[in-house]
Amino acid sequence: MEKIASLCKRRGFVFQSSEIYGGLGSCWDYGPLGVELKRNITEAWWRDMITSREDMVGLDSAILMHPRVWEASGHLAGFTDPLVDCRQCKQRFRADQLTAEKCPECGGELTEARNFNLMFKTFMGPVEDTASVVYLRPETAQGIFVNFQNVLNASRLKIPFGIGQIGKSFRNEITPGNFLFRTREFEQMEIEFFVKPNEAESWHRYWKQTRFEWYLEYGIAPSRLRLREHGADELAHYAKGCADVEYEFPFGWSELEGIANRGDFDLKQHAEASGKDLSFFDEEHRERFVPYVIEPSAGVGRPLLAFLVDAYDEEIVQDEPRVVLRLDPRLAPVKAAVFPLMRKDGQPEKALMIRDLLKQHFAVAYDQAGAIGRRYRRQDEIGTPFGITVDHETMQNDTVTLRERDSMQQVRMPVDRLVDELRARITAGCAGVAAGAP
Ligand code: ATP
Repeated sequence: MEKIASLCKRRGFVFQSSEIYGGLGSCWDYGPLGVELKRNITEAWWRDMITSREDMVGLDSAILMHPRVWEASGHLAGFTDPLVDCRQCKQRFRADQLTAEKCPECGGELTEARNFNLMFKTFMGPVEDTASVVYLRPETAQGIFVNFQNVLNASRLKIPFGIGQIGKSFRNEITPGNFLFRTREFEQMEIEFFVKPNEAESWHRYWKQTRFEWYLEYGIAPSRLRLREHGADELAHYAKGCADVEYEFPFGWSELEGIANRGDFDLKQHAEASGKDLSFFDEEHRERFVPYVIEPSAGVGRPLLAFLVDAYDEEIVQDEPRVVLRLDPRLAPVKAAVFPLMRKDGQPEKALMIRDLLKQHFAVAYDQAGAIGRRYRRQDEIGTPFGITVDHETMQNDTVTLRERDSMQQVRMPVDRLVDELRARITAGCAGVAAGAP
């Protein structure tokens, strides 16, 4: 993890928030490479879960919502963690994460546990009184439930269908940590999929499978991914079942995404609290019912960290160490780097022309500094799947070498084939050199 965190900072994936002021606990900023990687992850999710499907639509609801939303959802009363303080060193811990009764830091005596609400509070308008309290949402899901009828009325969707949303959530975590894994401000990618109650179990199975396979599709090693069913003692009182997709991080197996069958709890709660009808009328069977909901709820930071950890590799190539991020080309922040072999004979100008041509289609880098081997290594370290080198032959016949990150194989190809070739290899989702390439 330390290697990943230091690579992230050095190469501009992730910086500590407000670092020049000493940093703000567990808040992180995504740098130039991190923001590309994050966008590629959220875009892959949006494409795969929403735009490519007939039964899904998207939503982008506000972070601030009416406080009654959180009353009805149960968050005001129940979105708490049990907090204990050490009387000696004053550190705070989550009681449910402690294995002994003495402080794990200094062995001091701990206070009784008290419930600590994880929602951030702020005030709306100029008066700071209890009537103006609003909360930063701790999950994006409630924005979907309260818009259920709006979406239904505005579209011609019939159950089963789902609504997906990507956005920021905030939780005043007691024990944040492990870099991007547990932060106080984070992004989520959530789906609420509405179904007939008697079809909920089979849809739950479907979503567990679909979401598990999504991580494999983008390159997570099967040996480090598992689906863990919750025990009865872990389930929220209204939940009919839940499973987590877990990744084996260097700090142990931990949740990337939870996939829950929430029954009709949320829609019923909001219907009752708001007095609005949140049921669905099935025209075919002439029956009205409150749908059950299957909720695949993922973060963005946790999957991003898992993709980075999983892709990280160190090897020795010709007696030299090579650090390589074997990121799926669809996720890689930079798709290709263009290099002039020599800084003379028109090679830099030609390489810049190729860079500009490719830049209309992909995120592309240009590098002319230092030995070509070192330039390849710099790109390997940030996961750039393809290197394009301009050499003396380019100046004669308009061909370049195309080097592939994982195999380090090189093939020669005409410049005018580069865009199509790169597009094909990136969308194929594997960086292998295509069979039949010249
Ligand atoms: P945990 O038990 O680890 O606190 P959770 O079960 O409370 O997580 P959910 O409420 O199921 O998490 O949230 C759905 C997803 O949102 C999680 O799987 C995770 O990817 C992400 N997430 C939740 N809390 C955080 C956080 N503090 N930092 C980063 N991501 C988070």
